[in-house]
Amino acid sequence: MGSQFDLFVIGGGSGGIAAARQAAKYGAKVGLAEFNRLGGTCVNRGCIPKKLMVHASHFFAQMEDARDYGWDGGELSFNWQKLLQMVHQELKRLNGVYLQMLAKSEVELFQGYAKFVDDHTLEINGQQINADKILIAVGGHPAKPGFPGSNLTITSDDMFDLKEQPQRIAIIGGGYIGVEFACIMNGLGSEVQLIHRHDRILGGFDRDIRTGVEEALKQHGIKVCCGSEAQKVEETPGGLKVTVEGTYNQTCLADVVLSATGRRPNLDRLGLDSAGVELDELQVAVNKYNQTSQGHIYAVGDCANKLNLTPVAINEGRAFADTVFGGKDRVMIYENVPTAVFSTPEAASVGMTETAAYEKYGRGIKIYSTNFCPTYYSLTSRKERTMIKLVVHGETDQVLGVHMIGDSSAEIVQTIAIAIKMGATKADFDATVGLHPTIAEELVTLR
Ligand code: FAD
Repeated sequence: MGSQFDLFVIGGGSGGIAAARQAAKYGAKVGLAEFNRLGGTCVNRGCIPKKLMVHASHFFAQMEDARDYGWDGGELSFNWQKLLQMVHQELKRLNGVYLQMLAKSEVELFQGYAKFVDDHTLEINGQQINADKILIAVGGHPAKPGFPGSNLTITSDDMFDLKEQPQRIAIIGGGYIGVEFACIMNGLGSEVQLIHRHDRILGGFDRDIRTGVEEALKQHGIKVCCGSEAQKVEETPGGLKVTVEGTYNQTCLADVVLSATGRRPNLDRLGLDSAGVELDELQVAVNKYNQTSQGHIYAVGDCANKLNLTPVAINEGRAFADTVFGGKDRVMIYENVPTAVFSTPEAASVGMTETAAYEKYGRGIKIYSTNFCPTYYSLTSRKERTMIKLVVHGETDQVLGVHMIGDSSAEIVQTIAIAIKMGATKADFDATVGLHPTIAEELVTLR
């Protein structure tokens, strides 16, 4: 008997949906299982609700700016419940959009948890389904640290369901998720303490981004405790008491403690052993075609051993479908993937950090950078600075990396990423006429 499906996708998030739709476009008979809401982490617990909250967190400062620009109005107040209600309303709309998209693509949706019975068979809600090819796109979940009282902490998933706005929040973890929530809550008026075990926040980013964002956080009144680890959390009459040790030896009281200490792939109950799929530490081991140790089983997105970002999961999913069902030879290219931290001010990067370029090319690299206060802030009492840095290969003149902190960094870096991908040189940047007066014109006037 032939297989019921040419492709069965486990997980209806960014990677799974992209792959399923693309494979169906090539005429494959595709099934997809999702036990939760369609759209996965990005739509329901990640990028989208987070970005909406980032927007919400900017209005207080912008209203103050408006006064400096001559506007006058009564006091405005912020309603946490209203914000979350609006956010969830939008997420529900997006869930519906994904449902329609799958139906339109003729992908058969199974609402339930899928697990492997053997390498061609899955079980969903007691029903056995077999498929010629299987794609694992199960994403990940936040991992809590192991210290005493960590059960009293919440994760990023819970941030979108808090009934009340915490007046005091302690955030453990200075990666991008911890930093973004620190800025959101600070902008909304909460008192924020960020505890990070390493010397600098935002590991993996260029050092000027790491130091620049940390400085900005401090200027905004966020207490940043680097080089320090949370040891325990206890319930006390005054709130949750967090004991911190390291560079900062102290305790702090908070209404909510957020553990932003990394994520783990959703693989524990998937039955990978029954399918003979091998792991690379905690994630599914895949080759450049996202193929696992079983030739007909593939994995994309956060559960595979690559970069954990939505556009990467989508690209991997489409590349897989193009190759396996579209007869093309396509792989995801991991160089020059632009990435951002939606902190306040935001930061964004594409290409090599100064350190990585130095390690590869030694003294043969050139750095061009500027730090300035954009025109917008010339009338405001609030001063946010912008930093732009180019990492350039001395011999070939190729721009290897662009790093930026400041308003609209993510939008600007997304655009400049095209030039970097095309191998633009510093001379190409210099030959480009600036658009005045903008922040981005500084990219082409750096000398
Ligand atoms: P997911 O989107 O997590 O989808 C996996 C799906 O599989 C889930 O819906 C899950 O319910 C389902 N599933 C799991 N197991 C099974 C099973 N056995 N059977 C059926 N269904 C199953 N990325 C960015 O690019 N930009 C950002 O600004 C950004 N911000 C983020 C903010 C936060 C707070 C978080 C947590 C993440 C953020 N990310 C961001 C990362 C991004 O959300 C992920 O990289 C992306 O969602 C990964 O997509 P995926 O398809 O691999 O997994």
